[in-house]
Amino acid sequence: MLDEAIEVKNLRKNYGKFEAVKGIDLSLVPGKVNALLGPNGAGKTTTLKSILGLVQYSGEITILGEKISMARERISFVPEDKSFYDSLSPEKAIKMCSLLMGNFSADKAAKLMKEFDLPMNKKISAFSLGMKTSTYLAIAMAQDADIFIFDEPTWGLDPIRRDEVLEMIKNLSLNGKTVLYTSHIIPEVEKIADVFSIMYKGEILYTGELKGLGSRFSLFNLPPETAIDSKAFSAVVREGKATKVLTDDSEKIRELRKIDGSKEEVVDLESFFGTLVRGNKHVL
Ligand code: ATP
Repeated sequence: MLDEAIEVKNLRKNYGKFEAVKGIDLSLVPGKVNALLGPNGAGKTTTLKSILGLVQYSGEITILGEKISMARERISFVPEDKSFYDSLSPEKAIKMCSLLMGNFSADKAAKLMKEFDLPMNKKISAFSLGMKTSTYLAIAMAQDADIFIFDEPTWGLDPIRRDEVLEMIKNLSLNGKTVLYTSHIIPEVEKIADVFSIMYKGEILYTGELKGLGSRFSLFNLPPETAIDSKAFSAVVREGKATKVLTDDSEKIRELRKIDGSKEEVVDLESFFGTLVRGNKHVL
């Protein structure tokens, strides 16, 4: 078995002079839910489009050890822009997918669409946002692929459907499939991700396992005007006179605990993400 399901090396993507992705490396862990988190415009969709060969880029990307042209049928994809099937009804979309994709099960798609309560003969362009997302998910889940790539797969879904979909995504990984998933909804990522990467302004700021994040890192609120060496920490956020620092260095953690008036905050994905992104606002 390969160590990585997808390997991205030094990926760069410019739109004109604008650098949307600035030479990132990314390895997807097989059989896990790999989440790509980041604020609006971070470069997540551009990264996914590059992996799928939908845009030109520079760098090296391999999928299960092969180029995308050889591995297309091994990937199933839910795009951010859910307008591709607009001119069809779910029934016709299923027929079209059966013709175009060798790995597609029409029965499975129809069964999932029924579970999602979708009207099979209505035009998809007339669907609500959540119904369109459900249609794409049903089509994607009906493919016998090894890797599932989801760009914002819960967009517009009601809370009950969203939980069902998150469970389906988690189950894919429990059945040995690899998932790459983008979101900005942190509680969702916290529910299903095994590994996560944080992307900001075209760079990957951090990649690691979600489990144990709070015991690996510590986050301190330091008293006003505490002198610190900003470079020595994973992130430093200054807001007014207050300073927040994030670190996984056990010696630093011991020192920070001794500072009079320093307060330790719980590190969860929300506080980790917020501190890392705010702390890098001036850096990148
Ligand atoms: P969001 O979470 O808002 O969907 P994202 O992280 O997926 O954002 P991208 O869609 O990859 O971000 O966009 C990254 C940057 O590249 C943004 O600044 C965006 O404006 C720019 N960009 C994306 N597509 C194009 C394009 N076709 N032409 C020009 N600029 C683009």
